[in-house]
Amino acid sequence: MKKLKFQKPTGMHDILGFDQRCFEKISDKVKEIAEFYSFNKIDTPILEDCELFNKGVGLITDIIQKEMYTLKTKGGDCLALRPEGTASVVRAYIEHGMFSYPQPVKLYYMGPFFRYERPQSGRYRQFWQFGFETIGEDHPVYDAQIIQIACGFFSDLNIAISLEINSIGDKECRPAYRRILVRYLKSKSEALCSDCKKRTKDNPLRVLDCKNQKCKEIIDGAPQIMDHLCPDCHSHFKKTLEYLDEMEVSYQLNPHLVRGLDYYTRTVFEFSTLKENEKTLALGGGGRYDKLVKNLGGKDTPAVGVSFGVERIAELMKQINYTDNKKQKNRVFLAQLGDIGKRKSLKLMGELRKHKVATSESFGKDSLKTQMTRASRIGCKVAIIIGQTEALNNSAIIKDMDTGEQKTIEIKDIVMEIKRQLKS
Ligand code: AMP
Repeated sequence: MKKLKFQKPTGMHDILGFDQRCFEKISDKVKEIAEFYSFNKIDTPILEDCELFNKGVGLITDIIQKEMYTLKTKGGDCLALRPEGTASVVRAYIEHGMFSYPQPVKLYYMGPFFRYERPQSGRYRQFWQFGFETIGEDHPVYDAQIIQIACGFFSDLNIAISLEINSIGDKECRPAYRRILVRYLKSKSEALCSDCKKRTKDNPLRVLDCKNQKCKEIIDGAPQIMDHLCPDCHSHFKKTLEYLDEMEVSYQLNPHLVRGLDYYTRTVFEFSTLKENEKTLALGGGGRYDKLVKNLGGKDTPAVGVSFGVERIAELMKQINYTDNKKQKNRVFLAQLGDIGKRKSLKLMGELRKHKVATSESFGKDSLKTQMTRASRIGCKVAIIIGQTEALNNSAIIKDMDTGEQKTIEIKDIVMEIKRQLKS
């Protein structure tokens, strides 16, 4: 086959057809939930100062070391295609002085993100995420609320999920745990993979989520942070779990869950697909990031958030045969014959739009049979037909696509009649 002159960049994809409908459904659901919980939408620039992510996400992370798309502008600035959403939201929180707003400030976003990863099924170089951030409160009730939001989202879409949760402590207790962990990992260093040997020095907590089988065996015997949390972190985590129990949210404690970004403190959690006998797929995750606002130059401000991968959720919607015929069913097909028929139809379409009646057409076609076949294929409930005679009489035929019944009425009454039929 002849190679196309232009193809989408490796690891990137077009969103169209059914995928686009799933994206829209996800976006509508996110908006509905955000409005219910009083989250305001924020759109941040696709490009940000590289330093924002270096400082925010952390230099010793895969995102910064291997995956960030960076560029130098003509003015000499170093900008990065955003690899994640939280750092940008926090930058905006600081830049717009949101610490003076009533706290917590609740923000949500949805848009494309970029990571130079090895493309594979469910992993892209440009992918979409949506996320919720609650900034300005350290109370565990907000950790639980963020999880409640995520659970509500999946339950509304009939997607079964599993939730894993852990606490990774804070600056009081994590350094001591880190030392204990490093001592343990060094004693097993011979058997660790080369990445983990390096991580033992640079970012030892990351060793805990290595997928290498040999490393996993060593990790199973590693000291657990849960046994080393300071009293405040311990109590915070205990309360978070109590709220989840109260809401009857099921979760698994995973002492090895650390997440791949440096900004997390205390609660961390991850949502995955729930499939028996199959490898689970990460759908999203989040946690508390109490030091990020200060780290990026703001006041000491606690926060908690979550983000999800849209492509993976859209894929699941396909697998559970998600259908959304409602929109099609409420659609009208406007069929026409001849030149005056076209003219009258074009004008009528403007009227239908004003009254928010979704309308399809095949104005380029002259055969009525072709047009009606298309109307059935789309699944329209009603068709309007303006033939030569009707056009001359200022009338139109309305046809019920289910029963085949039809009647002729004056054009001026069409919109009202159509609305009545669509409601019935
Ligand atoms: P993270 O920001 O790494 O915690 O990712 C949160 C979620 O975004 C993941 O669980 C995935 O669902 C999704 N995600 C992350 N990276 C990618 C990618 N390269 N391609 C598709 N989805 C991704």
